[in-house]
Amino acid sequence: MKKTIKDFELSGKKVIIRCDFNVPIENGVIKDDSRIKASLKTIRYARKHNAKVILLSHLGRIKTEEDKKKNTLKPVAEKLSVLLRKKVKFIDQTRGEKLENAIAQMKDKDVILIENTRFEDLDGKKESNNDPSLGKYWAHLGDIFINDAFGTIHRCHASNLGIENNLPSGIGFLVENEIKKLSKLTNNPKKPYTIILGGSKVSDKIGVISNLITKADYLLIGGGMAFTFLKAAGFNIGSSLCEKEKIDFCKEMLDKYPNKLILPIDVITATEINENAKTQERFLGEIEEEEIGLDIGPKTVEVFKQYLDDCKTIFWNGPVGYFELKPFQNGTKQLLDIITQTKAYTVVGGGDTARAASDFNYQNKISHISTGGGASLAFLEGIKLPSLDAIDEK
Ligand code: ADP
Ligand code: MG
Repeated sequence: MKKTIKDFELSGKKVIIRCDFNVPIENGVIKDDSRIKASLKTIRYARKHNAKVILLSHLGRIKTEEDKKKNTLKPVAEKLSVLLRKKVKFIDQTRGEKLENAIAQMKDKDVILIENTRFEDLDGKKESNNDPSLGKYWAHLGDIFINDAFGTIHRCHASNLGIENNLPSGIGFLVENEIKKLSKLTNNPKKPYTIILGGSKVSDKIGVISNLITKADYLLIGGGMAFTFLKAAGFNIGSSLCEKEKIDFCKEMLDKYPNKLILPIDVITATEINENAKTQERFLGEIEEEEIGLDIGPKTVEVFKQYLDDCKTIFWNGPVGYFELKPFQNGTKQLLDIITQTKAYTVVGGGDTARAASDFNYQNKISHISTGGGASLAFLEGIKLPSLDAIDEK
């Protein structure tokens, strides 16, 4: 068991908490505050125990000066102030005198939010490449470090690993909960165990496919990635998404796991991708050259249902259709309906899959929706996670 925030004496201490405030912001307005809400438990705990709370997070990617304007954490500080009912002081710097003075003046229970850690990426990617001097600098601002950003747990950045290398460190409640919930899939998951895998590209998920297939009983493939598999199986896929350089990989997987890998038997196609697209239901072999496969068809839903109904464990990553547009939502909606009616332990990982679950209002019926996309996959694959490994065991 990793040390958690509960294992530290916090009173009077400066506690740096790495949060995941990477929220969608448009024109200064936060479009989805669920990640901010998910961090409250740890922040509230630190305040209740009289800590001085210093918050760090990244937001988006910073490649130009222009990116800085769009990706300031200022709106997050305002939102947090409302949620905590306590003024959160925002410091528009990632280092410097203003920040140091503000910290020196902190009283117990005060909260400071430092500007987007990735502002440091403009000058030689210091944050994302874990520049040792940056991690050391941030560490010297506090006494204890709590990593509560599950979304970046698979990254080695200055704002996680860099600080952990220089301060006594633990995990927060959000990371603790993710580990507990996801471990049910890695430590002897209850069988039968079926995984639904979708999303646009095979290449995004190569590691996941070849690794998770060894852990599950069945892998149901949908989404854009299904078409490279279907092509590999010898079907004509018209103008659907296809990664030619991954066909051999798909063939290899199909040869190795003929009874585990389950592909669609029918698909929804259209000749254009928009809200008013005219759709067709096509069995394999019927797809015409100009048609694009954009969802799984009703017969496939029936087949997938048979693999899901009696499951004890289900993991889902990647929508099975172009769910952002109405004509191609059905497959994803129906599978959400099916998995939430089973008695299985259900876990959803992946940013878009989580969004689909909440857009279609199934979020309360799923056992666990991971806050981390790539992070949840890396955890399930059993990839080494240095920013977690660096935290001491109890
Ligand atoms: P997650 O974020 O859950 O890991 P991905 O990012 O891998 O999921 O994939 C989500 C994207 O896949 C969505 O934007 C969706 O529109 C797209 N997608 C799903 N099915 C198809 C398809 N048949 N053709 C093209 N894109 C698709
Ligand atoms: Mg995605």
